This record gives sequence, structure tokens and C-alpha cells, in this order.
Amino acid sequence: MPLLDQRQRPLENLRLSVTDRCNLRCRYCMPEENYRWLDKSRILTFEEISRVVDAFVAQGVRKVRVTGGEPLLRADLPRLIEMLAQKSAIRDLAMTTNGVLLAQHAQALRDAGLHRLTVSLDSLDRTTYRLLANRDDLDRTLAGIAAARDAGFEDIKLDTVVIAGINDRELPDLIEFAREQEIEVRFIEYMDVGGATLWRPERVVSRSDMLAQLTARCGAIRELPRHDSAPAERFELGDGTRFGIISSMTQPFCGTCDRSRLTADGMWFTCLYAERGHDLRALVRDAEAPAERLAEKIERVWSGRTDAGAEMRLASDRRGPLADAEHLRDNPHLEMHTRGG
Ligand code: SAM
Ligand code: SF4
Repeated sequence: MPLLDQRQRPLENLRLSVTDRCNLRCRYCMPEENYRWLDKSRILTFEEISRVVDAFVAQGVRKVRVTGGEPLLRADLPRLIEMLAQKSAIRDLAMTTNGVLLAQHAQALRDAGLHRLTVSLDSLDRTTYRLLANRDDLDRTLAGIAAARDAGFEDIKLDTVVIAGINDRELPDLIEFAREQEIEVRFIEYMDVGGATLWRPERVVSRSDMLAQLTARCGAIRELPRHDSAPAERFELGDGTRFGIISSMTQPFCGTCDRSRLTADGMWFTCLYAERGHDLRALVRDAEAPAERLAEKIERVWSGRTDAGAEMRLASDRRGPLADAEHLRDNPHLEMHTRGG
């Protein structure tokens, strides 16, 4: 019997942020000059992460996504992947990366047992990439995607955050690029999450605007049936090319949300928009605490969960960034690059 929350949503999907550091500065995620980083002494070791994951698996988690910050900045990451890949109950082990360091690590990640990869790629144009990421790393990201294919990854996705006036004219090019690589791109509506201090409503390109633009430029689009609780809706062009849209802003999927997030220092968040997390580090570091205490805490928190942050924000009529820069410096756990996108 799966562990259900108050809205009958199972605990199925865990996002593991392994570092809050990043080598890019995407304007929708880390636009500020300075950041307050998590205290190094609090960052969970791989052994501690593995014990926490065991407790989540005992409560029903079957899908784990390693993320960050930029997960490939964490030293020796393939060792953690190997530890996670050995847990047979995890049927989906994925990672989200900006791809900059992927060429160096793709083979080791594949050999360690990583199943799937999502690479964030917001533009194929060098100037636009630099404008969005604040670094000139397009070539390295593209090399990372090629290396992942060479390493034998069969399931690679591209994620593109679409921002009005910046990269919203590039959707057909990104679809074409993905088609050539035999992978699929998903377009994400720009979200007003923590860290997105430059967010403005007029910068959001909605699902319906994306579809209208694509229909005008690529012809008729067919919506594909959904089979799971994944956030992306999938579509097909007339020539059979497929792509996805994640419309967290205009059509939140809180009703089927089975995800939660663990930060690199062991704070557990049951909603992307949650103000407060639950400290699992203290329990995993307490040599006296029996292993079941972690699983009990997870069960207690999840069974009381009512979160529907994106729905609540949609209902609010004065929408703006979730937090200002000062509030984020006081509480870095609010940041998307800390809690893991
Ligand atoms: N650094 C890695 C990367 O960029 O793929 C992993 C961490 S990043 C926080 C995970 C995902 O969050 C990325 O795909 C990124 O595009 C997305 N993201 C960050 N801020 C966002 C925002 N304001 N709106 C929508 N997606 C966002
Ligand atoms: Fe870094 Fe990813 Fe955030 Fe970009 S989206 S700043 S790559 S954590």
C-alpha cells in the first residue's frame, strides 16, 4: 500500500540536490551578484545520502533524480550514482545537469548505472546562451550532449526555460536540434520560484502561446495521451517529431504531484514553493537514533501533506517573485539551486 498524503498523492519521486553550487548563473535561477552558500560541515556525505534514500525507498520512493545546483560539481559523483544504482527498488535513476561538465563525466556516470539524463539547454545561439547563463559555455553543453549519446545513454531529454523576448523565437530550432540528436526537448514556463528575483508576469510564455507559435511555424500539432504523473505534456508535429511542455505556471499539476526534494544539507521540502523544510540531517547524523526513525519521520510528514503551492500562487491576483534578494540571503533554502529543480 503506497504512502499517501492528504490529497491521496503517493510518495514516489525524490529529487536529491547534491550541491547548492553552480558553474552557470542562469538569469531565471541565480541572477544575483552574491549568494550565501550552505555550510560545508552540514553537507551530507554519500553514505548519509544513501541512508536517507533507503528510508525514502522504505516508504515507497521508486524514482530518484540527482540535481543541484550543478550536480557535476560534486566531487566523485559517479560513486554516489553507483551506490544508488545498487538499490534495486529504484526503477528510475536520473540526473538533471546543465551539461557543461558532462563530456568529462558521461561515461563514468553511465558505467556507474545512471539510467537517464536531462540536460538544460536554453538556446542554440551563443549570444542568447551567454545572456541567459551569464557564461560562454554553449560549446561545452553541446559537447556534453554528444558525449552522453556516445556513452550509451538512450533516454536523454533537453529542458528549455522559455522567456519572452529572449529565447521564445527559438522553439522550432530547438525541436529540430533535438530531432537530429534523436532526443526530446521540453519547454518549461518561466516560474516565479525562489531565486527568480527577475521574474515578471510579462516574461512568461504560456503553454498556449508556445503552441500557437509552433502551429504557425511548424503546422498542425497533436497532443499525445498521458500515461503517468510526469509534469510534461507531450505533443507531436505532423512529421512525427515529439516535444513536451511543462506548464507549471498556467496549468499547475499539484493534484498529481508525487515529488519532494532533499537539499544537500538534508532539509526535506514537500513542495517547490514551501517556506519551511523538515530537517532529516539531525536524524541521519544521530548515532543513537535507530534507522527506522528516519522512515517514521518521512511517513509522518508525508501523510499530513496538503501542499499545492503552484495552485495557490495561480489563484493569487498579485503575482511577483516568491522572495526578494534579502529574504533569500537570510534563507538560502528557498533558492531553486539549493532545493533542486
Ligand atoms: N544545474 C542543473 C540544470 O540547470 O540542469 C540542475 C539544477 S536546475 C535548478 C534544475 C532545473 O530547474 C533546470 O532545468 C532549470 O531550467 C530549472 N529552473 C530553474 N529556475 C527556474 C525557473 N525560474 N523557472 C523554470 N525552471 C527553472
Ligand atoms: Fe545553475 Fe541550473 Fe540554476 Fe542554471 S538552472 S543557475 S545551471 S542551478
